Amino acid sequence: MQKTYTNFVENAKIEIEKTKVSLEEKYRKETELKVEKVIRDYEEALKLETDDLEEKVAQLDEQLGEKIQEIAAKNTMRFTCACDRTKYIPCTVDLSEEENYFTCPDCGAVYKVVISASTILMSGITNNPKIANMYDGVEVGEIDRTPL
Ligand SMILES: [Zn+2]
Repeated sequence: MQKTYTNFVENAKIEIEKTKVSLEEKYRKETELKVEKVIRDYEEALKLETDDLEEKVAQLDEQLGEKIQEIAAKNTMRFTCACDRTKYIPCTVDLSEEENYFTCPDCGAVYKVVISASTILMSGITNNPKIANMYDGVEVGEIDRTPL
């Protein structure tokens, strides 16, 4: 009887251990699955962010390219070459450079661009009694008569 009882207890202990192992196994498996899912979700999120980032960079590159073209267009002057004075050659002038050059695509002549700027007074004249003849030497355009 004692032996049977002992066997029963031993078997029960074994069963409990098996159950525990299988529960632990189940828990371990569930945890593994959860971890795998978290990793997959993370990778997906990362991929999504990467895709978004690449798209954003491409978008910014495109905007920058457009802006550069716009600036270049606004700073393009047209010149003629001695080889054909009827043909205008576009030259992008960079005012941040001390010197700008362009090369004639037809004959290869190289020209330095000389930039000169002057002003023409377009607003109404207001005489300052402290400065005599203050507008002497100032080129005056078609004057806007609207009072300042
Ligand atoms: Zn030329």
